[in-house]
Amino acid sequence: MFFHLIKRFNSSTSSSFSDFIICGGGLIGTTVASTLAKQPCFSDKTVTLIEANPEQTSTLPQTYSNRVSAISSFSKNLFERLGIWKRVRRFKTVDKLKILGVYSDNALELDNKGDVVAYIVENNELVQAVYEELRTLNNVKIIHGKNIANINCLNSPKVILEDGSSLNCQLLIGSDGTNSKVRKAMGVEYLSWSYEQMGVVATLNVVPSGLNLVNSVAWQKFLPDGPVALLPLSNDMSSLVWSTTKEKAQNLLSIPKDNFIDALNSSLETKLKPNQLTDVANKGVDKLMKSLGLMPSLITSEIPPIVSDIVEGSRAAFPLGFGHSVHYVCPNIVLIGDAAHRVHPLAGQGVNLGFKDITILEQVLTDGYKNGRDLGDINDLRKYETLCQQNNVPVMAFIELIHRVYTSEFPPFQTLGDISLKLANTIGLFKDQINKGALFLRS
Ligand SMILES: Cc1cc2nc3c(=O)[nH]c(=O)nc-3n(C[C@H](O)[C@H](O)[C@H](O)COP(=O)(O)OP(=O)(O)OC[C@H]3O[C@@H](n4cnc5c(N)ncnc54)[C@H](O)[C@@H]3O)c2cc1C
Repeated sequence: MFFHLIKRFNSSTSSSFSDFIICGGGLIGTTVASTLAKQPCFSDKTVTLIEANPEQTSTLPQTYSNRVSAISSFSKNLFERLGIWKRVRRFKTVDKLKILGVYSDNALELDNKGDVVAYIVENNELVQAVYEELRTLNNVKIIHGKNIANINCLNSPKVILEDGSSLNCQLLIGSDGTNSKVRKAMGVEYLSWSYEQMGVVATLNVVPSGLNLVNSVAWQKFLPDGPVALLPLSNDMSSLVWSTTKEKAQNLLSIPKDNFIDALNSSLETKLKPNQLTDVANKGVDKLMKSLGLMPSLITSEIPPIVSDIVEGSRAAFPLGFGHSVHYVCPNIVLIGDAAHRVHPLAGQGVNLGFKDITILEQVLTDGYKNGRDLGDINDLRKYETLCQQNNVPVMAFIELIHRVYTSEFPPFQTLGDISLKLANTIGLFKDQINKGALFLRS
């Protein structure tokens, strides 16, 4: 088998053909490469992964990266199955997510009945773990440091690299992120808008407060100009994602470190004066719940950790936007991950949706292949598109709704946002649905 694969790859190099070409080796591209290459029914198929960035060193830096992701149990299970999780050298488990209101003490606590709620992993660390695994696979070829310049959407799609070399394939997978060249070459309609917000990230030294000395709670507070979130990295370090207006983000990047820390601590502590409606509604909801015999769920007394320092040079900001491709497929080409859909990071779902796409693609392609169909069979690809969109669109709509309610300047929406934390925390069924469906745990 080994010699057969070497021969096949040598011949594919000369004829510049690979069964699968994957454009973009970020979190999604590398993982889809590994998933397909490891599928027993594709063991005689070749996979070529093309990534614009040069190969990274795999030594683990002492300081944490400022780009991290909250990975759901579903996504972690995918990495376990692929034999990749054991290569991840640093991660932190989250036991609880606590969402705080800004107009009252209303809060929503989400846990997973004693199980892990999410895994916080540095993006670089996870990508490196996948590359390490890919390098052990004989049917995978990795091309680093080459930009895809052009794509011809033919029966056998052709990828032209910036050095003029080209490759053909049976199935082209576009995992080249938000500004996907593959998507543009497909000419599909893409619905998108900017939130006119930036996500300010930083690596923080924190002093855990109250009972949570192991810093295992992820915190989120919905401020009027966007949510601020602290994701635990270790007992005394957390990662910040602070979504805010472009102007405020610029300011947060440029002010001295101590002022940044003060601004962050005060945004985590501050309560804004509620509008009259919120006050009245809160009292009304309390009365109603009492009359229905519904006792508000007890919120533990934990408070967010105090930020004591930030890692030098870890402050950065990323533009935030929404995007959804009306079609994810055309003959012999599919889009996956951020190339197909982009969401606000407020629910930590972006990359998790992409990992779910991968498992759907794997299922659809293996079913089709086992039933004697070609790899790029359009009916199989359409099935992939439908199943992915059935999964992605409701989550994207929910995230959009949360974003619009919590950033609204319309007082009734501010009231709705505040009250819904209390209601969701009290009504078990609602809370279970949010737990299962919306935040981190989706499977
Ligand atoms: C501040 C912030 C916080 C976030 N937090 C979370 C979180 O907690 N949980 C979560 O699930 N999601 C989170 N996300 C979303 C998550 O980061 C993205 O969904 C994820 O990175 C998308 O992965 P991807 O591989 O699809 O795309 P990308 O990460 O964009 O990777 C695309 C790759 O393609 C390569 N590429 C692009 N064009 C070319 C070309 N022409 N030729 C060759 N290569 C090319 C790029 O170099 C890149 O490596 C967050 C996003 C932001 C901005």
